[in-house]
Amino acid sequence: MEPTGVTLDKVDRDVAILLAAGDDPKIVADHLDMALSTAYRLINGMCARAHVAGRAKLLIWILQHPGCLFKGVISVPGLHVQPCECGSPYCLGMIAAQLPPIDEMLQLPTGAD
Ligand SMILES: [Zn+2]
Repeated sequence: MEPTGVTLDKVDRDVAILLAAGDDPKIVADHLDMALSTAYRLINGMCARAHVAGRAKLLIWILQHPGCLFKGVISVPGLHVQPCECGSPYCLGMIAAQLPPIDEMLQLPTGAD
C-alpha cells in the first residue's frame, strides 16, 4: 500500500501555524475561538496523519514539511532521518548543529611551508 500524503485543511493549517509559532493548545484554542477539546482533537488528528507521536513531534514534522502550511500541498508523513539534506528549516538547523564551532572552521592551518 502506498503511503498516503498529508494535506492540511484551513483549520488544521491555522492550528499548525500557531503551534509552529510556539503557542500551546490553550492559546491556540483561544486565538481560534474554539474549545480546548477541539484544538486537541485537531492536533491529535494531524499527529495521526503525519505519523508522529505527540505535539512536540508534530512541531518537528511541520518544520520539516513547511509546505504543509500552504493550501493543497501534499506532504509526506513521518519524520526525516538525520542528517537530512532536504533543506527544511529543521534539518538545516540539525546539520548546522553538527558543524564544528565557527572558530575551528575559520582556523587557518599552522606551520605551513
Ligand atoms: Zn529533512
